Amino acid sequence: MNPADFDFHSFSQFISGYLPGKIQKITVNAGFTCPNRDGSKGTGGCIYCNNNSFSPGYTSSGGSVTEQLLQGKAFFARKYPEMRYLAYFQSYTSTNGDIEKVMQLFNEALSVDGIDGIIVGTRPDCMPQPLLEHLAALSRDRFVMVEYGAETASDHTLKRINRCHTWADTADAVNRTAECGIPVGLHLIMGLPGETREDMLRTINAVNQLPVDLIKIHQLQIIEGTRLAAEYRAGSCDIINFNVDEYLDLCCDIIKTLRPGIGIERFVSQAPDNLLICPRWGLKNYQFTSLLRKRISEITQST
Ligand code: SF4
Repeated sequence: MNPADFDFHSFSQFISGYLPGKIQKITVNAGFTCPNRDGSKGTGGCIYCNNNSFSPGYTSSGGSVTEQLLQGKAFFARKYPEMRYLAYFQSYTSTNGDIEKVMQLFNEALSVDGIDGIIVGTRPDCMPQPLLEHLAALSRDRFVMVEYGAETASDHTLKRINRCHTWADTADAVNRTAECGIPVGLHLIMGLPGETREDMLRTINAVNQLPVDLIKIHQLQIIEGTRLAAEYRAGSCDIINFNVDEYLDLCCDIIKTLRPGIGIERFVSQAPDNLLICPRWGLKNYQFTSLLRKRISEITQST
């Protein structure tokens, strides 16, 4: 096996192409709701979603964007005083609001000392063209990236998990964003209900057809307080319950399948212990990545 087949760019390698020095993302909750909960796209939300499982504590404190960023900076600067930052608008859907108001919050973030850019996390059906054009104008002076929650390329699965958007929505949003010259990230979940390993690799192949710069993947987690948790407990949840070894194998295949040039920011996610039902691997992203690098080196040396 040629080691080049297993080469992937990390987030640090990706961002070093845009910004110098050590860069840390600070998660910000802009206070918007989610269109898949407020009825504008759907109700009840995605079946696996409990937003508390991916928002750090300081974002739920109700503080302003500036306050959240200052709090995040204070946390990280203790260890790395020279660190620079990106404001990561992650919680719920960061573009689900009046465009003026959304832009005001992005500009507020960019006015905080030490913030070098923004990453806007949103749904692919929630990026109106006028907002994209505002972001494109902003990106002429500052780093701007948009990250879409695509999750899978299968419309059948998207329906099964109540995403209330399609893969065509994702392709459209990614193409429009790239046409504006804005780097695009996609968030994908491996192991969604009803999906086989082949379905997951089909998603990676579909990503390869789009002008995507970076992906973030993680294993499906079953989280307390979600509809998926209720299905899981009722025994009606058709999921592959990967163990770490099996998931390492899948990640190796993802790396081999992914178009060279697309970075991979992460492979696993870890919900707070008190919310996580399964899988309980107890591995942080850097620990999993180190196991993955070991597995890759074993494979390349043995072939
Ligand atoms: S995952 Fe995102 S789109 Fe789905 S319900 Fe949660 S916040 Fe809304």
